[in-house]
Amino acid sequence: MRPTGRLHLGHLLGALPNWVRLQDEYECFYCVADLHALTTRFDNVESMQRDGIEMVADWIAAGIDPERSVVFRQSDVKEHSELALLLGMLVPISWLTRVPSYKELVGELGDRIATYGFLGYPVLQTADIILYKASRVPVGEDQLSHLELAREIPRRFNGLYGEVFPEPQAILTETPRLAGLDGRKMSKSYGNTIDIAEDPESVRKKVMSMFTDPARQRLKDPGHPDRCNVFAYHGFFEAPREELDEIDTACRRAAIGCTDCKQRLAARIEARLAPIRERRQQLLDEPGRIEEILAAGRGKAQEVAKTVLEEACRAIGI
Ligand code: SF4
Repeated sequence: MRPTGRLHLGHLLGALPNWVRLQDEYECFYCVADLHALTTRFDNVESMQRDGIEMVADWIAAGIDPERSVVFRQSDVKEHSELALLLGMLVPISWLTRVPSYKELVGELGDRIATYGFLGYPVLQTADIILYKASRVPVGEDQLSHLELAREIPRRFNGLYGEVFPEPQAILTETPRLAGLDGRKMSKSYGNTIDIAEDPESVRKKVMSMFTDPARQRLKDPGHPDRCNVFAYHGFFEAPREELDEIDTACRRAAIGCTDCKQRLAARIEARLAPIRERRQQLLDEPGRIEEILAAGRGKAQEVAKTVLEEACRAIGI
């Protein structure tokens, strides 16, 4: 995950629970992808690294266990860069220019982002995966084209130099479609998110500002919970079935106001966030704790990465 800073409710209900579950089944490697972030944040590296620390605090507070999983920073393990360079020698440019997100982002952000490094993003991403001979990668549907490359590239390597890398398979993870507070796609850039670490008062204020059923202008107007984002959030935050039914009926009969309904939601979200916020604060209050975790992760990651890179170099003949 790129070091984007504090994570939000979309992560809390999306990628993170899957990551936490995977720890029971697999040996997992979770990487702060700071080299990837350099493609867009090359002018603000100090704040990017602070964001990485905040993000790792969120991961651990949400249940990633650095004793069971390897949690590390990409740039700390130089083998990522070296393997990406070697893979770059055998990846045709046409494979990279056809990746849909490349054209989309260059169109959106302009030539500033159209660097050699950005074009090669999927090559570095492939190195991140195959450097650990990963068999599985948890991805969302939007990342499937990247993963396809992460299979084609080792296939080509193995064809040229002999079987070294397995082709990683996707673990397609179902994630709830949590909209932003205003009903649009949830995105920090829209300012429609709630951070995992957000303080209770701010959580309350944001929930009270959420968009509801647009047809419900006045208290006496019957509502349509199926068109209301607040109602959807009650479900995502695991309101008991009876309570959902009760809100549904009361809303349709105009027997509950949106203010009451949102107050209940704010309390529900806060109950979920409070223990996570406390755990992350304990981590951050201990000076150097996250850096220690990353240093330990670096050691474990490097042990594997070094061996696999040596094997790749031997296969190439360098
Ligand atoms: Fe939405 Fe609740 Fe208002 Fe109904 S009462 S419109 S579910 S916020």
